[in-house]
Amino acid sequence: NNANLYAFFASSFPSDRNACAIETHMGRYYTWDDLEHASAKIANLLSALKLPKGARVAAQVEKSPEALVLYLATIRAGYVYLPLNTAYRKAEIDYFLQDASPAVVVCTPRNFGWVAQSAFRAGAKHVFTLDENHAGQISGSLIARAAYQSSHFETVESKPEDLAAILYTSGTTGRSKGAMLTHENLASNAKVLHRYWRWKSDDVLLHALPLFHVHGLFVASHCALLGGSKMIFLPKFDSGNVIKYLPRTTVFMGVPTYYVRLLDNPDFTQEICTNMRLFISGSAPLLSETFNTFRDRTGHTILERYGMSETVMLTSNPYEGERRAGTVGFPLPDVSVRVTGTEGRPETQGEIGEIQVKGPNVFKGYWQMPEKTAEEFTEDGYFRTGDLGSFDPDGYLSIVGRSKDLIISGGYNVYPKEIESVINQMDGVAESAVIGLPHSDFGEAVTAVIVARKNVQLSEAAIIGALKNQIANFKIPKKVLFVDELPRNTMGKVQKNVLRERFTDA
Ligand code: ATP
Ligand code: MG
Repeated sequence: NNANLYAFFASSFPSDRNACAIETHMGRYYTWDDLEHASAKIANLLSALKLPKGARVAAQVEKSPEALVLYLATIRAGYVYLPLNTAYRKAEIDYFLQDASPAVVVCTPRNFGWVAQSAFRAGAKHVFTLDENHAGQISGSLIARAAYQSSHFETVESKPEDLAAILYTSGTTGRSKGAMLTHENLASNAKVLHRYWRWKSDDVLLHALPLFHVHGLFVASHCALLGGSKMIFLPKFDSGNVIKYLPRTTVFMGVPTYYVRLLDNPDFTQEICTNMRLFISGSAPLLSETFNTFRDRTGHTILERYGMSETVMLTSNPYEGERRAGTVGFPLPDVSVRVTGTEGRPETQGEIGEIQVKGPNVFKGYWQMPEKTAEEFTEDGYFRTGDLGSFDPDGYLSIVGRSKDLIISGGYNVYPKEIESVINQMDGVAESAVIGLPHSDFGEAVTAVIVARKNVQLSEAAIIGALKNQIANFKIPKKVLFVDELPRNTMGKVQKNVLRERFTDA
């Protein structure tokens, strides 16, 4: 019984192998047979390189069906896939390649010069290129070399605990860490999500997420592959393009900012969503306002779920039953989720504590960081997520923020999300981030950073005045700062460390 993730996917490809598996915005098609044959060619090419067991194949490539095929081919050949954010430049690529020492690096022809230099310095033996041009034509040395290979490949035998991928975390709270994910981690989670969200072979997924992050690569693609469902690939999120394709699709996945931008587009209407059955949000908190406005506009209730690079998905709002705004739903089947206090004592319902998790989806550890890995697991084998949350009486989990963002002011714990929620509801506020800044008396001073709605003038005094009737004094910001926008990374996550740095001497 082969635990190789590709073998698992291939066993659920639809019986009509000539059906469309991936369609691109440039009108290119990949059938299920194409996926099988193209991944075989690349797997043959990789095998011919005679790489050692566990060798990493790093890829910093634009999104295309071939980029997904490269991922499939890598796991098929028994190697470890390492996707890299396309936004990374020289210093970042140097860090990741030095850290992961991949045997093979795949990049776009445009970046070949500097990536190849960085790759060879890091000890890589092979550097290939892969690209899709503006006319939707695919090229690059990887494709050219693989073209001569056989389109048949016997998927390598893998054990459940063999590594399939190293996924670097988003680096929201510090330097990115490499999360080592096994075939079993990915297969077990794909199986659970596929069932929980009721995937069917006639589903069509509109895939607008990047392929280098857990959300687009694992959650979105895995569900579609296991469902034998077609995907429509957009190179990146663009509200106009999404609106153009939504009428032909049934499932959409996005980060909260995608939903905000869709709602900003007057062409986004209920009619556009006629064939839709499911909108999923994750990677960052979805504001209740977005959740409610979306329901009013489209009649659809966004399903919010929660997960991370180290664990793939952990919780989800229900498919049937109430999807509750401001919560990430229930623990997924086979996943244990608990909320504990600082002393590790299980907290009673409603109390805020650290979210800890266990299950077949939880990663093997951080790449080359055995001490960090040991620190992040409890004695009884739970992984400390670094997120703070609480369960409500009905069992819905809410995330109140990250432990690193918890503010301790004058000895009191202040949870930024609580204050942000109150501020976000004020007239004229578009969004906010509450951070702690060093303070001589209080240790940390609660500080609110606010983005006002267009053409609205807000004042510090008015905000503080309005907060005074609503929350305890120790939570009231000592200072309110206004900015045009909050700093976000590619996955739409607010970078509070950037804000803290920027305003430390404000
Ligand atoms: P780093 O670990 O390098 O600081 P990161 O934690 O942002 O970066 P990811 O693994 O991409 O890297 O993101 C996982 C985190 O995203 C979770 O720990 C959680 O804080 C946040 N997250 C994911 N889904 C949700 C959600 N639905 N609501 C709130 N936060 C979420
Ligand atoms: Mg993290």
